[in-house]
Amino acid sequence: MRQTTSWIDGRPATTDSTTSGPRRSPVLDPSTGEQVAEVVLAGADDVDRAVASAVRAQVAWGELSLARRVNVLFSFRELLKGAADQLARLISEEHGKTVTDAAGEVARGLEVVEFACGLPQLLKGEFSGQAATGIDVHSVREPLGVVAGITPFNFPVMVPLWMSPVAIATGNAFVLKPSERDPSPSLLLAELWQRAGLPDGVFTVVQGDREAVDALLVHPDVAAVSFVGSTPVARHIHRVASEHGKRVQALGGAKNHGVVLADADLADAADQLTAAAYGAAGERCMALSVAVVEESVADQLITLLAERARAVRMGPGSDEGTDMGPVISAQAKERIEGLISSAEQEGATLVVDGRGARVPGHENGFFVGPTLVDGVTPQMRVYQEEVFGPVLDVVRVRDLAEAVELVNANPYGNGTAVFTSSGEAARTFRRSVKVGMVGINVPIPVPVAWHSFGGWKDSLFGESHVYGPESIRFYTRGKVTTERWPHRATAPAASFHFSGD
Ligand code: NAD
Repeated sequence: MRQTTSWIDGRPATTDSTTSGPRRSPVLDPSTGEQVAEVVLAGADDVDRAVASAVRAQVAWGELSLARRVNVLFSFRELLKGAADQLARLISEEHGKTVTDAAGEVARGLEVVEFACGLPQLLKGEFSGQAATGIDVHSVREPLGVVAGITPFNFPVMVPLWMSPVAIATGNAFVLKPSERDPSPSLLLAELWQRAGLPDGVFTVVQGDREAVDALLVHPDVAAVSFVGSTPVARHIHRVASEHGKRVQALGGAKNHGVVLADADLADAADQLTAAAYGAAGERCMALSVAVVEESVADQLITLLAERARAVRMGPGSDEGTDMGPVISAQAKERIEGLISSAEQEGATLVVDGRGARVPGHENGFFVGPTLVDGVTPQMRVYQEEVFGPVLDVVRVRDLAEAVELVNANPYGNGTAVFTSSGEAARTFRRSVKVGMVGINVPIPVPVAWHSFGGWKDSLFGESHVYGPESIRFYTRGKVTTERWPHRATAPAASFHFSGD
């Protein structure tokens, strides 16, 4: 069985180096329910050692030329591509998603590395020559120092890669605190960074849970915190880290609506909704978990959705024919099945019921079957809570205006999509929804790496979205220099009065 430790100063942290005595947590394969690894949870002492190492390493790294920093990024890209299959298998084993889906996650992370390879162009400063007589003004952006990333279980490689390439390319040292539920891929990332030539201490991993997070949030040498996870924790992170003077971006949970208008290609909309609701067992922050359907086509769409939900091939993520794997844990399965039951009790119709699903040969796996719930109203628990499982709610509406009202009344604002053949309806939808990422006939509109990713309202606390242009600003701070080289013969005399010319 693997033992997954922290990675400090360029090597796995030995367990006896923890003065407080290590706590450990089992890592399970969700397809079988069996333990595949044990993660050693860092305490506050380990966080101190990790941050101290990062502080030392950042000084030299931040001074290194842009050309040399970016060379490391280019090497990392090659190594990451080479290790994509190994990473995908490791993700699938600890998370449960299919290997193909996990490979897609690595590919989306790789995009951000490629974005960061263009850093010299992205980090060019601004210069105003002769801003006033004999005076030039220029602005540059400098690294913050040590920055931390705290990441969720559902994308153990992609989310760390939303943050670390840009944080590192801009000259910071990055301390990652991955999810304790699928911690092992983070160590493979650390090895790849090292092989790419990144100096020890610039990329650090502290494994752990709340104890490690709380130590990072109050650490005086951590300048900024990037967080991705659930809304209650995002709110806590934003508050505590802000109180301790840190720059914070905290991305939270979601309830994403897919609106189907009567003029949509219904078969295509049903295909897209099915994949976006049940892919990765619904454990995506951009999963479409609510289908909002114009009443006139609702029965037709539900027939198509039910056919597709019943055809989803559920099984272990490592099997080639699998469309959808298990959910992350026995507790998650119980919680999701409880929410399905609550919908039934509150008067919704279970068109397809995934409770009690069994996969032959994997009886102890944490499987929940694809579930389709009709007649959902905004008052029901299954609508109000983020289910984070393979459950698609259907809410029927009269028209586009009522659909937009529903989307905007929801406290979350991560992603949304509209399915229509009308450009006018799509434009109205795009302009009127209060949501950060919008898809027009695109079910999961995760922006490409050179546009930033982020939701609105309870889906993001802090001003800055992740990766893309906003990340360059987040991981740097501006310095503006006003300079003058007086020439004795022509220089104006010193003045007591403010002058702009
Ligand atoms: P989570 O909030 O339980 O955990 C996220 C991270 O915070 C983990 O590293 C965990 O160890 C740590 N953590 C958990 N509880 C904590 C606490 N009380 N104090 C301090 N740290 C704590 O989230 P999760 O279950 O790992 O991930 C699923 C959630 O993440 C969903 O809500 C999903 O929507 C969200 N998510 C959002 C995005 C986005 O871009 N907005 C992307 C992926 C996932």
